Amino acid sequence: MDWLLVILSLIVLWIASLCKIIHTSSSPSRTFFLSNGGAFCKKNVLLVVAHPDDESMFFSPTISYLISRGHNLHILCLSIGNADGMGNARKHELYKACAVLKVPLQKVNVLDRPELQDGFGQIWDHNLLARIIKEEVSRHEIDVIITFDGYGVSGHCNHCDVHYGVRRLLQENPQSLQAWELVSYSFSLFSFLFLIMSEVFYFQVSYVVCSYYMFR
Ligand SMILES: [Zn+2]
Repeated sequence: MDWLLVILSLIVLWIASLCKIIHTSSSPSRTFFLSNGGAFCKKNVLLVVAHPDDESMFFSPTISYLISRGHNLHILCLSIGNADGMGNARKHELYKACAVLKVPLQKVNVLDRPELQDGFGQIWDHNLLARIIKEEVSRHEIDVIITFDGYGVSGHCNHCDVHYGVRRLLQENPQSLQAWELVSYSFSLFSFLFLIMSEVFYFQVSYVVCSYYMFR
């Protein structure tokens, strides 16, 4: 009888998680993601991440969606992810991932600056980030930025700093740029159970659809 209750509880949690995601995916903000009054309009999009593998772990459905729709996607990775001394290997893994994701390597920019090193103890200056991202935006005539939200999915401080760097840039250039953030889910038992039970669906739905305009 106890097992029956556990199974029923899991089913209820799964259904509730599903409803939550479906509800979020039907929110008005999705309607306006990269749209131009309903008509297709090719955009120059810049994905800004902190480390190699962020693009695959958190944004690959978004990247696939953008590429499939013919948008011109650039990726700016602000570090080589050298926290464990594996930075060069990780950088090349990023290039390989981008080849699979059909992002041309000339559109992938991986930085290795002393001020922007991977690590939980590393504080990245938001003004510096804003300047670097602005240069990339100008170089490629970017219309739309996509990045982390203020929690950075995993709570990694480098992810959060990237978010606030983009925000600083937007504060300085409020008219010319549109930016979208990837909404973090709280990693409660509720979401953990759902993640285990339907990981692929979770990634596909939450990471493509649940990006929000940063100034909503
Ligand atoms: Zn990361």
